[in-house]
Formats: sequence, C-alpha cells, structure tokens
Amino acid sequence: DRLKESKVYMRALFDYIPLEDKATPCQEAGLPFKRGDILQVVTQDDPTWWQAKRVGDSNLRAGLIPSKQFQERACLRVKCCRTSDQRPLVFCFFFLPICGLTVAGLRRSFRLSRKDRQGSSGEGSDPGEPEFLTYEEVTRYQQRPNERPRLVVLIGSLGARINELKQRVIAENPHRYAVAVPHTTRPKKPHEKDGVEYHFVTKQQFDADVLNNKFIEHGEYKENQYGTSIEAIRSVQAKNKMCIVDVQPEALKRLRTSEFKPYVIFVKPRVPESRRRRSAATSPGGGEHGRVTDEDLQEMRQSAIQIDQQYGHLVDRVLIKEDSASACAELRGILERLERESFWVPISWVR
Ligand code: 5GP
Repeated sequence: DRLKESKVYMRALFDYIPLEDKATPCQEAGLPFKRGDILQVVTQDDPTWWQAKRVGDSNLRAGLIPSKQFQERACLRVKCCRTSDQRPLVFCFFFLPICGLTVAGLRRSFRLSRKDRQGSSGEGSDPGEPEFLTYEEVTRYQQRPNERPRLVVLIGSLGARINELKQRVIAENPHRYAVAVPHTTRPKKPHEKDGVEYHFVTKQQFDADVLNNKFIEHGEYKENQYGTSIEAIRSVQAKNKMCIVDVQPEALKRLRTSEFKPYVIFVKPRVPESRRRRSAATSPGGGEHGRVTDEDLQEMRQSAIQIDQQYGHLVDRVLIKEDSASACAELRGILERLERESFWVPISWVR
C-alpha cells in the first residue's frame, strides 16, 4: 500500500551494485540500478537506507538503496582522495570499508564541477560547491498546449555533426522548429538580413554581451566572434516554435532551468564497416562519403566516453547516428513525442 502511495521519484545519477556493497545490512535485499534509472522511493524513514523500486520493473519488490545523504557522505570521502595528497588517501581507505561502498562506485558518483566553474556556463550552480552525483528528484511532465515548447539541446561526440542534423530537421519543418539566431561581429553579406542569419553587432557590443553573461556559448572563427544568446532562444519560444540548439556540453549547466526545460540528446556516431579503413590521411569523423581510419575510430570512441562520463547524467536520450537520413528520422520522431508524451524532469522545474 505504501508503494502505491509513494509519489517520490528519483533519477539515479550513479550505478549501484548491492553485491559489491559491503555496507548494506543485507546484500540480497539491495536494489541494483544504473545511472538514469527512475526509482520510486517507498520510504525514507531510515537516514541511511531507503526502500525503493525501479519504475518499469514488473516485479513489485522494493529493495534497499543508499540514501542521498549516505551516498553524499561517501562521495565526500572520495573527494579527500582526489583533492589532497597521500594522507587523505590513507584516511579514505580506512573509511571506505566502514561506509562500505566501492571506490569505483563512488568515483562514478562524484564530480567536482571544475569545468563548469571556469566558463560562463557555470551559472546557476554554486561555484564553490562540489557536485555530488547521487539522486535527482523527478516528476512526470507533459507540455500543455498553452506552454512554450521545451528547448531541445543536441550535444555530440567527435564526428557526430550535430549542426548538420539540426539544420536538416529544421529545414524539413520550419514552421515547427527553429534555430536560435546567433550573434556575430563579422560583416553582413549582401544577401543576408540582420536578425535572420545572424544578429550583426560590433565588437564592443559583443564583448559587453559576453561580460553580461548573455551568451550560452561563444567562440571565434577567422578573427570574428560568434555566439548564441539566451534571448535568441527565448525569441524562438515566444513564437511557439521548438528551439533546437547544438552546443558544447559545458553549456548544459546554464541551460538546465525551469524556463527552458531542456531535453538533452547526446548524438554518438557509429561508423559502418563499409566506411572504415586501415591507413591514415582522413580527418576524424571523415566526410559523409569519406573513410574513417582505426585511429579516427579510437578518437571518436574516446570522445564519446569522455562526454558520457562527464555529462551522461544530464542526458535524456542517446541517439546513435550511423547516417544522416536515419538519424534525422529518429530525431524527428523524438521531437514529435516530446510534444505529445510526458517525460521525467527535475521536480524543481514544475514546482
Ligand atoms: P559564417 O561566417 O560563414 O556564417 O560562419 C562561419 C563559422 O562561424 C561557422 O562555420 C561556425 O564555425 C561559426 N559559427 C557560426 N555560428 C556560430 C555560433 O553561434 N557560435 C559559435 N561558437 N560559432 C559559430
């Protein structure tokens, strides 16, 4: 009965293997889960061990999972290992058997958001606080007809060509989807219109906007500045269109707000056998018709692993892209479902 009553849902931000957990009062009673699983928390009565079941599991058995607080404390101990010298390492190994969670498991659940602290993308999180990857409370959310469409964020590992994917999906349906018009300091070309291809601004204006944190991302190309502003996203949404952006994953922190309710799609390329070749002399990711070497493949895999490790917990959906046409069809399907169906979002976005 309690199970039916519980309305507390958590998205797991780490993997948990009870059989490897020496701290659990009973390994058989533990509930294994993977990062991204949604857990219905039945009771939080015990400060150390919660009872939960995995949403989507056919069996109704609830199992033990480490409480958020317990997992955070465990993460803190790993922080000792990471940020200091040898002595805290000893301290850490002394404590771990007591709290019992495996070093590997804990490593997965702890990140110091150092990268986020460097750029403008860190806004919204306390820059001094470490980020513990434990659980995030979530709820089902469905966009209502009178609400502005959710922001769709594409991130991609090396070779994913997410800009091309974005452009293609938008070109197929420009009444429903749109890009956020970027700013640039480069001169306008005769066929271009201010506010259509770009917002053309002076270098001083651009620099001021950077200082005022107006961009979700910006960069330089051939000595000109380019950047996408928060306002540009808002103006697409104000037209009731779904805004699709492709960004470096560092920008995710900045975009994860209740205003945008971003749906994050991680595009990973998969190179079919027919496009692989052994020798070098092609760029990573290859051209659409180009060949990809073993070294390129290795780099692409590494890039995907890196993004997955650092940002995987912020990803709603992984899209494996083998060729543009099928990836585009899959993306279109996802976008259509986003408008029709309900999805898990952080509860803080709808409160
Ligand atoms: P173009 O000046 O030919 O329109 O664009 C040249 C290059 O500027 C693009 O290929 C891309 O690398 C870069 N660029 C265009 N828009 C943006 C943007 O919004 N942000 C960043 N960082 N670069 C952009």
